[in-house]
Amino acid sequence: MATEMLGSEVAKSMKEGLINETKELEEKGIHPNLTIIRVGARPDDLSYERGAKKRMEITGIGCQVLELPEDISQADFEEEFRKVNEDDSVHGILLFNPLPKSLDIAPVKAMINPLKDMDCLSAINVAKVFTGDASGFAPCTPEAVMDMLDYYSIDLTGKKVTLVGRSMVVGKPLAMMLLGKHATLTICHTRTKDLPGTCRQAEVLVAAAGKAKMITEDMVGENAVVVDVGINVDADGNLCGDVDYEHVKEKASYISPVPRGVGNVTTSVLADHVLRAAKALNGI
Ligand code: NDP
Repeated sequence: MATEMLGSEVAKSMKEGLINETKELEEKGIHPNLTIIRVGARPDDLSYERGAKKRMEITGIGCQVLELPEDISQADFEEEFRKVNEDDSVHGILLFNPLPKSLDIAPVKAMINPLKDMDCLSAINVAKVFTGDASGFAPCTPEAVMDMLDYYSIDLTGKKVTLVGRSMVVGKPLAMMLLGKHATLTICHTRTKDLPGTCRQAEVLVAAAGKAKMITEDMVGENAVVVDVGINVDADGNLCGDVDYEHVKEKASYISPVPRGVGNVTTSVLADHVLRAAKALNGI
């Protein structure tokens, strides 16, 4: 029976440090501050927004949401974004995406100040992730996966790690971070031949495909570490991950549940990014 890798435990271990860092900045007259930009009201975004606001509140970081109508024009969207980007009281910007189909994200990716870019939109931060330059902002979710592995002392050096998913939000940046920890990496996607066999070889299996319970027990090697990044809704309308948790937990050595897993760490990583941004923007 696997040890559960609980996001709440990881977040708890980060909490005090984040609160203290916020206090130190406040004492210097700097009020760390995040603006979330949301276009429309997708349930996923609203759920993440609630978690992020709560985490910022616990940490003492200012947080406001700029809610824009789903039918906003491209020009108005860019203008609203520009105002936040140029507002000196805002240290971090989190833009929820995907955006409505009528909007193009490319101009704001080019516009965002890389120092305020909390979730790796700008090409500069993407390049830093891919070159292993820790001064950039990686996307929060892959960083949360790495924090979770670190908290549970999972040594990745030389380990056979299989990652299912190759998106720019999770899979690809996470692949770079895992390589940075000297994992021997296999990246799977929809064209992978023999996905079950490839997954079974893994000593550490990370699922980030967005397919409810697709990683079944027969796809997991004995005593593997299984990290589930997926957030899905199952046939009964319940939140679930990409891993068939109930069965896989009997075989794995460590497993992260959904909910209560990686998602709980992501907002702590976001808070850390806001504090780093507040420092960088103030020359600290
Ligand atoms: P995307 O849909 O952008 O990417 C999914 C990736 O998984 C693609 O590379 C795709 O392959 C691959 N994939 C999909 N189905 C299969 C399959 N059946 N077999 C093998 N590979 C497959 O999703 P995201 O990366 O944005 O998100 C992945 C999951 O993580 C989602 O459930 C999302 O909700 C969750 N998520 C969780 C967060 C958190 O904080 N915990 C934050 C962000 C996302 P291909 O490239 O060939 O299409």
